[in-house]
Amino acid sequence: MSSTLPPAPAMPAPAQQFASDNYAGVCPEAWQAMAEANPGSAPAYGDDIWTERAADAFRALFETDCEVFFAFNGTAANSLALASLCQSYHSVICSALAHVETDECGAPEFFSNGSKLLTAATEDGKLTPEAIHALTANRRDIHFPKPRVVTITQPTETGQLYSRDEILAISAVCRDLGLSLHMDGARFANACAALGASPADLTWRAGVDVLCFGGTKNGMAVGEAILFFNRAQAEDFDYRCKQAGQLASKMRFLSAPWVRMLESGAWLRNAAHANACARHFAGRAASLPRVELVFPVCANAVFLRLPAAVTDALRARGWRFYTFIGDAARFMFGWDADLRNVDALADDIAAAAAASSQP
Ligand SMILES: *Cc1c(COP(=O)(O)O)cnc(C)c1O
Repeated sequence: MSSTLPPAPAMPAPAQQFASDNYAGVCPEAWQAMAEANPGSAPAYGDDIWTERAADAFRALFETDCEVFFAFNGTAANSLALASLCQSYHSVICSALAHVETDECGAPEFFSNGSKLLTAATEDGKLTPEAIHALTANRRDIHFPKPRVVTITQPTETGQLYSRDEILAISAVCRDLGLSLHMDGARFANACAALGASPADLTWRAGVDVLCFGGTKNGMAVGEAILFFNRAQAEDFDYRCKQAGQLASKMRFLSAPWVRMLESGAWLRNAAHANACARHFAGRAASLPRVELVFPVCANAVFLRLPAAVTDALRARGWRFYTFIGDAARFMFGWDADLRNVDALADDIAAAAAASSQP
């Protein structure tokens, strides 16, 4: 009983950071959904009403009768989805900057029992039909792992978007070459908000077979959904999740937040807010001397090329950020980004840039 618990020690709220959108807490809708799902008992392992409602909410949002699964995180969602699309002797085509290549510790290869990732060097992280053609034309002999899947990230790790026409062009190549198309949508909501397009138009209606839809960076505590638009490809996927340790026993706490996120529209509001904060920040940063925007700001990521003195000064002020793509400083904006804090960061960059240009 909560009244008998000792009071929690008061902890100061840490200052808001923009190192990643997964630095954010849980949004009110997701938090409330957990509370709503909490009372009483419910069948375990996904046989509960919340999980059914969440799957139905996805089918309504995507306007199609897709198969829906829930995993704890994006690495598992991507890896297991890719593994279900190919055999161990197949290969998966991706951008060299793709999360599956650079940030999943070999999980796609591990869960597929060795399917090789074939990477295309790209300027901005976007795959193109030409790059897919080049990688498949390169080798067609028995000694090379046979291409079977293409994976694209929407928006990309650099914050770039694939337009519906670009996805259609990629899926046409996939169809010609007998490849399945997977989409890493860790920030899929940000893409929908930025493009003003429907989830259906950006996925199955454009030829995407499987989508991993990120909940964590959208405002949930934990959880990603895997949507199979081609139901045959979902065969035995539940076993794959279980074997990989991704079947939540108290599944209602993974699924209930989705119900409220999707039904209330929070998924899209959160993403639109994050995108707007990125645009605001980019607008301020772009006007500063010695500060350069590295990629067009399309969703919720801003990459800045900064003099070393400026990155040092920002870190000394306590700001956290990654520099893992081409040395650029990456700033990501989440559902909870507060414009006053966004401006505080921009003010600090302006001050550091001015100081660094003093003779
Ligand atoms: C965050 C992210 C994921 C998921 O990462 P996890 O830490 O495993 O949840 C997947 N793809 C991209 C592009 C991401 O940014």
